[in-house]
Amino acid sequence: MALLELNGLTKRYGGILAVDQVTMSVQKGEVRAVIGPNGAGKTSLFHLITGVVKATEGSVHFDGQDITTVAAFGRCQLGLSRTFQLTSLFPEMSARENTRLAAQARDKQRWRPFGGGAVFAEAARRGDAALERLGLTHVAERPAGLLSHGDQRLLEVAMALAQQPRVLLMDEPTQGLSVEETAQAVDVLAGLFGDGSLTVLLVEHDMEVVFRLARKITVLHRGGVIADGDPETVKADPAVQSAYLGGYA
Ligand code: ATP
Repeated sequence: MALLELNGLTKRYGGILAVDQVTMSVQKGEVRAVIGPNGAGKTSLFHLITGVVKATEGSVHFDGQDITTVAAFGRCQLGLSRTFQLTSLFPEMSARENTRLAAQARDKQRWRPFGGGAVFAEAARRGDAALERLGLTHVAERPAGLLSHGDQRLLEVAMALAQQPRVLLMDEPTQGLSVEETAQAVDVLAGLFGDGSLTVLLVEHDMEVVFRLARKITVLHRGGVIADGDPETVKADPAVQSAYLGGYA
């Protein structure tokens, strides 16, 4: 059974069909990318999966449970975590404090009036482990706002990982980075995804990033799926080539 399953997922904004009958599944341990030319519906699809916007039609199932009407916070509690964004970092707080707070945000125990010390320690431990997985231990005490752009992006991923997600959702993880910063971040992410322990859904427009990180690819065009499969098959697909050439020409 797929961990995340979309069936006929559709989003209309008035007369605009942003997402059109998307059916797609993400298996446990899979790193899947959703790609497509500008305006293909990637961001809208991401919002439907995270619960930020409501579907017009269709369903989202997570681990067999219908979560189509579950709000964003509830989806996060279930283990469907998106990467944080620069706007949600606390720039004056250290990288370590940011990951610890992220870990606490998913922790149902955090409101327990007694035994708070143990809960705090556990969140700090999870935060530190996430920093280590992203190679950020050496900057753990530095204020988040003073980190390089590349390290800030990796800190966003560390914050999501500190929540021990069952599916990690990433929206353009290298957006806004220079060529060098992108190459470094992709190296770290490739290492992170290499052991198959994480289930990841990545929305990305940079094809090089996608082909480096993803083992399965879903291609969107005008809201609908035009191809779905492994990178080599998708790359060779005539419909994909014409969508991209048509989109960028
Ligand atoms: P890009 O790569 O340029 O970010 P995208 O693949 O993420 O594009 P979306 O941003 O999801 O595509 O947009 C898909 C379509 O839906 C576009 O035609 C867009 O104008 C439209 N759209 C997206 N959000 C809204 C909204 N809130 N209201 C109206 N139309 C919208």
